[in-house]
Amino acid sequence: MKIKKERFLKLFQEQLLTISTLAGVVLGIILGLIVRASSSSQWGQREIMYVKFLGELFLRMLKGLILPLVISSLISAIGTLNFKATGKIGGRAITYYLSTTFIAVILGIILVVTVRPGIDRNQMNSTESAPQGNSKLRTTTTVDTMLDLVRNMFPPNIVQACLEQYQTVLKPSSDNDSNTDINMWKIGHTYGNGMNIIGLVVSAVVLGIAMSSLHGTVNTLLHLVTEVSTIMMKITSWVIFISPIGIFFLTVSQVIEMDDLNVVAGKLGLYLFTVIFGILFHGFIILPIIYYVFTRKNPYNFIFNGMGQAMMVAFGTGSSSATLPVTIKCIEENNGINPQISRFMLPIGATINMDGTALYEAVAAIFIAQLRGIPLSIGKVVAVSITATAAAVGAAGVPQAGLVTLVMVLDAVGLPPEDVSLILAVDWILDRVRTVVNVLGDAIGAGIVDHISKTDLTKPVNPQQGTPNSSYEIETQMET
Ligand code: ASP
Repeated sequence: MKIKKERFLKLFQEQLLTISTLAGVVLGIILGLIVRASSSSQWGQREIMYVKFLGELFLRMLKGLILPLVISSLISAIGTLNFKATGKIGGRAITYYLSTTFIAVILGIILVVTVRPGIDRNQMNSTESAPQGNSKLRTTTTVDTMLDLVRNMFPPNIVQACLEQYQTVLKPSSDNDSNTDINMWKIGHTYGNGMNIIGLVVSAVVLGIAMSSLHGTVNTLLHLVTEVSTIMMKITSWVIFISPIGIFFLTVSQVIEMDDLNVVAGKLGLYLFTVIFGILFHGFIILPIIYYVFTRKNPYNFIFNGMGQAMMVAFGTGSSSATLPVTIKCIEENNGINPQISRFMLPIGATINMDGTALYEAVAAIFIAQLRGIPLSIGKVVAVSITATAAAVGAAGVPQAGLVTLVMVLDAVGLPPEDVSLILAVDWILDRVRTVVNVLGDAIGAGIVDHISKTDLTKPVNPQQGTPNSSYEIETQMET
């Protein structure tokens, strides 16, 4: 009995931060609902801004860590691996990312076609409330979006990549141009939209590979980036410490400013249910099965004892990139994953691997097609599955990025971009749920690859220290 109590207390202490963060989410929702119910008029933007302020500070701190952490982690992890190991681990990671994303899309399609949330059960005209399409509002085609993604992988200027990214813009030849075929419009471009994270990831990977191929002749720099990465993790642990407060204020303000919950009734409610069920089924049943098959270890231990804090931060911020420092911290310290794997895979995963988003994109596009009464041929379903996978890869790890890339999937079914407004009211909640599973998918991938790549790594690392590769390891690699 006494031993049990002691074990419980120890577990409680270990998980105190996670429990406090969970309390932050729950109390945030409760307080938000109380405020909504008790105030006679709607809260103004200014009042919401004040409530959000502390949450906003927390988010800014996390975001500030992304750039130095992504670059230093990737370079130090890859720089200390040998060339062959980088190829093997990279190959495994990409195979995992693509296959799990595709599984998520297929699951989404099966669910939405079975549940049919957009079909009117009373056989009434279901297209009434849909906004009318106006292709003049569209500024890029799907092909342009895909090409922009590839262009952004190769930034011509690394400093600029820290600030902005390339985007194609199509314009009619003149103001009275009535040509609605946007393929005939003038092709221009603009820079904007924040940090080009995919470009930075590719650049850091290339730098890391170059360093590892120089066989130890650039050791000073390798030490330097490794130490930057260690320092960033130290700062992360401080930021994590205030996560319960940050998450609490972010949640309260979100609940206060959300649209009226009445809209969740009917078809939109069924859509919400379909997406949430699908995402949770993928994250907490399918991914754990895959994890178990490869590692023969208890996946729920890995998820709940190891990744709880990261999942909560993902829910609170709606951003896998902002959650990245916490994800790395949790996976190394709680699950003992080798930093050479976690710091290699997680920054890439946070940028391109988004299972929750992929599932959501497939369900959302088919739901809107159902609402609009558009029949779905097999060809269109195949198009949805391919574009939803691409749209998830292309979505940035920032709040509601999936809503933007959904335009591509809508295009595949022949729907106008304005139709995203049909699902706007509930997107914030779906965004948070899909971000949780996006982060979880990255973590489980790192867990699997870590397990099957043990023999490819240089030396075991002490996870407690959070140092990716000690100088000893760097030297070991130099000698080989
Ligand atoms: N918010 C998601 C993430 O950061 C992306 C999305 O689906 O909108 O992972």
